[in-house]
Amino acid sequence: MMKLSIIMTRLKIRSRLTLSFSAITIFAIILCAGTIYPLVKNIVQNNIENELINTTSTVADMVQAAINVSVRNHLRAVSETNLQNIQTIYEEYKSGELTEAEAKNKAEKLILNQKIGKKGYNYCLHSNGSIAVHPNSKLVGINVDNFDFIQKQLALKTGYIEYDWANPNEGDKKAKALFMAYFKPWDWIISASAYRNDFVSLVNAEDFREKIKAVRLGKSGYVFIIGKDEEVIVHPWISGTMKEFYDILGYQVLSDIYQKKNGKIKYNLVDQNSKKNREKIAIFKYLPEMDWIVASSMYTDEIYYPLKQIIYFIIFSIFISLVLALPLSALIGNSITIPINKLVALFSDAAKGNWTTRSKNNSPDEIGVLSRKFNKFMDDFQGIQCNLSTEVATRQESEYQRKLFEEVFNNAMEGITITDFNGNIIKANPAFTTITGYDVDEVIGKNPNILKSNKHGKDFYKTMWEEIVETGHWVGEIWNRRKNGESFPELLSISAIHDSSNETTHYVAVFHDITEMKSKEKQIKYQSHHDALTGLPNRVLLIDRIAMAISRARRQNTKLSLFYLDLDNFKTINDSLGHALGDIILQITANRISEIFGNQDIISRLGGDEFVIMIEDVKDEFHLINQAEILLKAFSKPYKVNGHELYVSTSLGITLYPDDGEDPGTLIKNADIAMYQAKEEGKNGYHMFKQEMHDRIERRLNIENALRQAVNKNEFAVFYQPKVNIKTGKVYGLEALIRWVQPNGEVISPAEFIPLAEETGLIIDIGKFVFKESCIIQREIIEKTGLNLIISINVSGRQLKHHDLIEDIKNIVDNSGCHSKKIELEITESMLMDNTEKTIATLNQISAMGFSLSIDDFGTGYSSLAYLKKFPINTLKIDRSFITDMADHGEDESIVQTIIDMSKNLKLKVVAEGVETKEQAEILKKLGCYRIQGYLYAKPMPINELIPFLINWE
Ligand code: C2E
Ligand code: CA
Ligand code: CA
Repeated sequence: MMKLSIIMTRLKIRSRLTLSFSAITIFAIILCAGTIYPLVKNIVQNNIENELINTTSTVADMVQAAINVSVRNHLRAVSETNLQNIQTIYEEYKSGELTEAEAKNKAEKLILNQKIGKKGYNYCLHSNGSIAVHPNSKLVGINVDNFDFIQKQLALKTGYIEYDWANPNEGDKKAKALFMAYFKPWDWIISASAYRNDFVSLVNAEDFREKIKAVRLGKSGYVFIIGKDEEVIVHPWISGTMKEFYDILGYQVLSDIYQKKNGKIKYNLVDQNSKKNREKIAIFKYLPEMDWIVASSMYTDEIYYPLKQIIYFIIFSIFISLVLALPLSALIGNSITIPINKLVALFSDAAKGNWTTRSKNNSPDEIGVLSRKFNKFMDDFQGIQCNLSTEVATRQESEYQRKLFEEVFNNAMEGITITDFNGNIIKANPAFTTITGYDVDEVIGKNPNILKSNKHGKDFYKTMWEEIVETGHWVGEIWNRRKNGESFPELLSISAIHDSSNETTHYVAVFHDITEMKSKEKQIKYQSHHDALTGLPNRVLLIDRIAMAISRARRQNTKLSLFYLDLDNFKTINDSLGHALGDIILQITANRISEIFGNQDIISRLGGDEFVIMIEDVKDEFHLINQAEILLKAFSKPYKVNGHELYVSTSLGITLYPDDGEDPGTLIKNADIAMYQAKEEGKNGYHMFKQEMHDRIERRLNIENALRQAVNKNEFAVFYQPKVNIKTGKVYGLEALIRWVQPNGEVISPAEFIPLAEETGLIIDIGKFVFKESCIIQREIIEKTGLNLIISINVSGRQLKHHDLIEDIKNIVDNSGCHSKKIELEITESMLMDNTEKTIATLNQISAMGFSLSIDDFGTGYSSLAYLKKFPINTLKIDRSFITDMADHGEDESIVQTIIDMSKNLKLKVVAEGVETKEQAEILKKLGCYRIQGYLYAKPMPINELIPFLINWE
């Protein structure tokens, strides 16, 4: 079936139809031939045979009826004769010729003597059923109404009855008939009865010969009757005996029929007319009463003639069908294929690009539907095509744009990254790799913060992202890091990309490596800000830096200074030895200056042989002088240039912010003026811009020089100021206070030279001197007054930090043999706060050596109770300032009170210094401080005054 359908699909529709029609027709033939034809044949045959049978039966019935009629007529005649005879006899009785008995007897004899056929006879019945007359006299008088036919007789009394009867000695019943006449006067039912076959001889074939001959079956069929010994009783054209009648095959037809009696036979005869051998069929029926056989026969081909007709018709129909199949299939095929082909043509037309092509077929059939679908499809297609064309154009355009962008993306000098909403890189261009060193594959899916350098704080990125979120854009310079770890500056632009609903979907970052630009910029900036010859900052940069330093100084409340340096004899060198050499001198000068000043100081060349040095965080003018002298000293060395050994001195002008100006211009200008003053003063020196400051410095310098000499010449003396315990009223200690007695007798206060001594380091020697003196004096006082007083010695910060302090003290104590237990060291609060651990260690050592420790000027620092506990101290010395103001300000009294209470809590002694009035002493006494030092009792005094003072005390 599958194969068939495959083959079918390979054929054209017309061929398929032809094939199908032919196949159906052939199938019909087979069906007719195989099924319908036998069926029809059977029916026809049956019909014909039935007709033969019917005809045979009809003829047989006809013969039978003829027999019946003849039997009846015969018996009737007998019966009527009997009645006539009896009537006659009865007339004779009536007329009196005969008695009734005679008449009856005569009638009886007459009836019984009358022969009917071979075995027939007459009898009479009374209407009550008893036999009146019978050939068997024994039966007369017997009632026989128990027999069925007797009852019929009794009922009818006249007429014809047929019945079957067997005599008592006979086996089979035989057909009998009787005809009755009723003779009423004697109540005699006169019956003439006989066996029916007795009457065969009576049947006259001529009676129905014509009738039978008239029966026609088909064209040549007829009916015939044969009797015993092949005697032809009735036949259309044969008579007599047909004893030796054979068919052409030698078949003894009639004798066979006679033998079979009932049934059907076939035989063959040569048709007289056509001389052809034809088959005949004969159907026959036996008539037993007559021993006749009625037969109907006809040629079988006549029977089957209609069948043949049918076959011819079928063949003809098939032929016609086949003949018609071709044009019909062509017609049907064409009705399908022509519109289909038209459609196909339309399709190929459409395929060639003619999108306006449409089918005109509007038939209601499937092809019409298909055509309309085609048109609909083409309409839609045309619409789609139109859209598609637009879309293609759009796409081509966008593809072109995309390619263009891709070109830009790939060839851009700028690194470009595209990140998704979460900030992960989804695309990066080749320039990205070139700039950062990261391959594109390496960074896909990563956050751009892999490039992050540590040059920006969190705030930077926070601000950046805030701006992006707010404005969708950010542009700025940013430092990132390459894969190799090198950080580089880039100009970065980040833009947020939004979708149609204005939701941010991506970020695009475009960045340009500005390392080169930066370095060029730096170079340009450097060049514009630096002196080409020495590489030092020029005036522009200097002014800028000074301005920055000024704002810093203003904020921090510090000072800054400018040194204006000018070489003294540079012009001469330049003119005589040439500019090249001059340039070398300037370069060496720059180097010499640079070697002296630190990184935070700015050294600048203004031009020619003029340099400016900016020094920040200036402590005081003395600090500056120190630097100035170091600088001048650096120029005392000769310049060795091209075999020349040149001495080039310099002059310095110094200004100080804010004292000498509050802006860079003024400061430089004033420094320049100061420099000229230095030149006027004889060169190779420095000059402060303000005269008073200059004077102060000069004086200080003089002192410093003098102090150095004083140390060498030992112009110092130690004065002692007694300390009194006002509770006991006794002097209990002394404070050693240094005095500088100049050769001219002028005594200079330690307040003036101690800071200088500290700065210059002379304090170490001075300190040792005071210590030695105090130790010696201790013994002298004991010797001269017997008083073993505590001697307090002031120790400065520099002394305490000096690494030889312990060693020096040890030596002095050992050499002088003084009592360390009676020596107290006074140190200031501020000294405790500096380098605490080291100080604690030193103080512990001192304490371990037996010395006491006192905190001088207590209350001016910020010592806390807990803090003081760390140190091995014995005494707090309340600063003079509190004592001075105590009487006037209640506040100071409360501070003093606090210090006194605090010292009590810490189990420390407390001393008040600078007590000048009784009032002050009274208050202190009231507050519980009894140790007093001050002019109220004694001023510092030399030893020669002290001894009598102590002796005279009380
Ligand atoms: P200081 O340690 O506070 O010494 C007390 C100062 O107060 C001394 O001044 C003393 O003469 C002065 N004084 C004492 N009683 C009174 C008074 O009733 N009224 C007034 N107006 N002043 C009084 P001096 O001797 O001029 O010493 C000044 C500072 O020099 C000392 O202050 C001390 O810090 C330092 N000093 C003195 N001698 C030495 C020393 O040998 N070595 C060290 N390192 N510093 C010393
Ligand atoms: Ca002191
Ligand atoms: Ca003091």
